[in-house]
Amino acid sequence: MSTSSYETTRRYFHEAAELMDLTPNMRRLLLTPERELKVQVAVERDNGEIATYIGYRMQHNKSRGPLKGGLRFHHEVNEDEVLALAALMTWKTAVVNIPYGGAKGGISVDVRDLTPGELERVTRRFVDEIHDVIGPDKDIPAPDMGTNAQVMAWIANQYQKFHGFNPACVTGKPVELHGAAGREEATGRGVVILTRELLARNGVELEGARVAVQGFGNVGSHAARYLQELGGVVVGVTDAYGGVWNPEGLDVPALSGHVSDTGKVVDFPGSDPVTNEELLAADVDVLIPAAIGGVLNGENADDVRAKYVIEAANNPTDPAADAVFEKKGIFVLPDILANAGGVTVSYFEWVQNRQHFKWEQARVRDELERIMVDAFERVWQIAKEKRVSLRTAAYLVGIGRVGRATVMGGI
Ligand code: NAD
Repeated sequence: MSTSSYETTRRYFHEAAELMDLTPNMRRLLLTPERELKVQVAVERDNGEIATYIGYRMQHNKSRGPLKGGLRFHHEVNEDEVLALAALMTWKTAVVNIPYGGAKGGISVDVRDLTPGELERVTRRFVDEIHDVIGPDKDIPAPDMGTNAQVMAWIANQYQKFHGFNPACVTGKPVELHGAAGREEATGRGVVILTRELLARNGVELEGARVAVQGFGNVGSHAARYLQELGGVVVGVTDAYGGVWNPEGLDVPALSGHVSDTGKVVDFPGSDPVTNEELLAADVDVLIPAAIGGVLNGENADDVRAKYVIEAANNPTDPAADAVFEKKGIFVLPDILANAGGVTVSYFEWVQNRQHFKWEQARVRDELERIMVDAFERVWQIAKEKRVSLRTAAYLVGIGRVGRATVMGGI
């Protein structure tokens, strides 16, 4: 049984706080969420039945700027997980040094059970419940598991009914509707930029590296595609239904086409089946969990053979697995750095919306590259100086920035 998400993030926080000699009062201040909102989302289904879901918006800390964080629509969403994810956003926005705090939202619903019309009604109903606590200067949602650009467009539209036109109230919107070129690929692209940097620090080329990716949604598919563009060999990919394996490397664009047609990676022509458990234990150089949390835990950590674990997903590694990886000398690039490309380009989208000025995709990519490389450099240096893991180093950077902002701003 893996540790709860909230417990996991608290453990990682305390490991860094210990090294910083943070006082108990300061720890309590930084760990306590500023606001927890739990709402009923009641909608009429296509068959006339009333369905009731539970939605959350957890606002963790806004010392460094407006709150920022994704919205997850998934049947396993619960209070504990959303709180953990909100705290991760606080440290993440600080690690990449963009002017935001941290929040997260979600609805406990299985989107596979919903028709497009039902999904739209769920989304709009949720906005009806939370619109007063979100907004361009308050709290800006974005996509996460189970949500996409279309869902963000509905959010912007529903928000506008209460507060007037203001596309900066949500990011990850369609490019045709005030979205940013390059937002959709941003998290996956950031993952690969950082993988390239981490390997380079260890004298390893990304070209020819064997990679396994768990999850082939927004993050996993874009990461796999960019990895392949840079010469990485994507040998295995899994999703919620199963997985595919090809020791010569999967053709990622063709696999994306197969997923568009069939909704899953399984039965991709020219591949062998692989389970999620087998993929996590595969003989590869780089393992990229890009799906749900807690997949690497005390029960399977010993089986991991990859030398580099890149946390594209949030909270994929629990503390028991983290300890095993550290002992075995496996490099773990932590979520609060590894998947920060998404929130970084969300920031660019917000800036563009506020200035009513559109950037070219090339500019988005260049700025993303710069911010990710700078953040990596800082975390790598701290890890070397203090002789700590990359995770602890990232927390030291994040907590340091949030802590200083809190003290300077005052209570
Ligand atoms: P998504 O909904 O687009 O895709 C999720 C993928 O994971 C799908 O392929 C799905 O089949 C697979 N999956 C779900 N349950 C699984 C299971 N039990 N085993 C194996 N695979 C499973 O979601 P996403 O936006 O790509 O997000 C993936 C992860 O990345 C999440 O942890 C999310 O918090 C994190 N993340 C996303 C973003 C973003 O910009 N979308 C940014 C930062 C972090």
